[in-house]
Amino acid sequence: MSRILVTGGSGLVGKAIKHVVETEPEGSPFAKRAGEEWIFASSSEADLRDPVATEALFDKYKPTHVIHLAALVGGLFKNMKYKLTFLRDNSLINDNVLRSSYTHQTSKVISCLSTCVFPDKVEYPLNEEKIHIGPPHDSNFGYAHAKRMVDVMNHAYKEEFGCNFTSAIPTNVFGPYDNFDLEDSHVIPGLIHKCVLAKKNGTPFVVAGTGKPLRQFIYSYDLAKLFIWMLRNYDDVEPVILSVGEDEEVSIKQVADAIVKAVGFEGNYSFDTTRADGQFRKPASNAKLLGLVGKFEFTPFDQALDETVKWFVTNYDNARTGSKK
Ligand code: NAP
Ligand code: GDP
Repeated sequence: MSRILVTGGSGLVGKAIKHVVETEPEGSPFAKRAGEEWIFASSSEADLRDPVATEALFDKYKPTHVIHLAALVGGLFKNMKYKLTFLRDNSLINDNVLRSSYTHQTSKVISCLSTCVFPDKVEYPLNEEKIHIGPPHDSNFGYAHAKRMVDVMNHAYKEEFGCNFTSAIPTNVFGPYDNFDLEDSHVIPGLIHKCVLAKKNGTPFVVAGTGKPLRQFIYSYDLAKLFIWMLRNYDDVEPVILSVGEDEEVSIKQVADAIVKAVGFEGNYSFDTTRADGQFRKPASNAKLLGLVGKFEFTPFDQALDETVKWFVTNYDNARTGSKK
């Protein structure tokens, strides 16, 4: 019997894991297995910044495994505004979850980092060995330092107590159930929402920055499968980058063009170059992942984007959008 607690179970990645576990056909390596119980927790069940609430959540479910996704999350602009809050909230959440996993003798924890944690000035591509070799980009140093400490804690828990704690490092994630807030979200959900409003209201569609920065994107349902693979097959403390290939970088302009096409927006759009570009690029290698998993079929970017736009339009009234316009 395994009881798998997914913290952050109501977010983009948590909902994707729930979807995959519940919809993969029997026999799929990603389907729910006999004897498995999956629990998807949100902040309303326990505020994980609070150690007492965290212990109570672990007392209630007594998980054998934890996929730890819960975090204060945001795109470039939210990270720039709330550096201390990103540092404190995420440090508290991570310390509480790892501590309660230890006190409850959880047999395995996979925590979620991000390619944002890597050094700003570094030789590309990024790989799992380069997390701590220089300071992160200034735009997200609060979030990045809190997340880096998870890797440090994983090693310390292993060395002092023999714990089986590890971490996954995804690139920029998108998909159904994302946060589509106009200001505080990541680029894809933010631009989908802006473009849908521009089409509906006949207003301008404005993309922040120059459009030149490059990013690697992963579809949330692909990422969900990789988390499930890690849960079942990976038992080392060292992190694994969960990403498409380093040759699959996409510029923000290409993202905007693809969104315009998927939304069916017929007007012109512009770039607001007074707004920040953030890090120019951060290409990450998936060589370690592919060496372990073998072959993995990533959903083509345009198909994943189409599915996300359709989901947003269909679920507009219930999607997380901050405010409706
Ligand atoms: P998300 O959609 O914003 O979801 C965040 C989740 O964390 C929600 O379930 C939220 O619960 C929960 N949460 C936030 N604060 C909490 C608290 N104080 N106590 C308990 N739960 C709390 O984020 P996501 O995109 O799914 O991110 C999942 C993980 O992936 C995070 O660790 C993030 O750092 C990492 N990541 C994300 C991206 C990306 O592009 N999105 C890229 C790389 C890594 P409520 O629903 O109740 O608020
Ligand atoms: P990052 O990958 O951590 O930097 O996070 P984002 O997903 O926020 O992507 C930021 C990049 O997209 C920057 O180059 C921004 O200038 C650009 N961008 C363009 N429009 C938007 C938008 O509406 N929201 C966000 N978050 N970024 C945007």
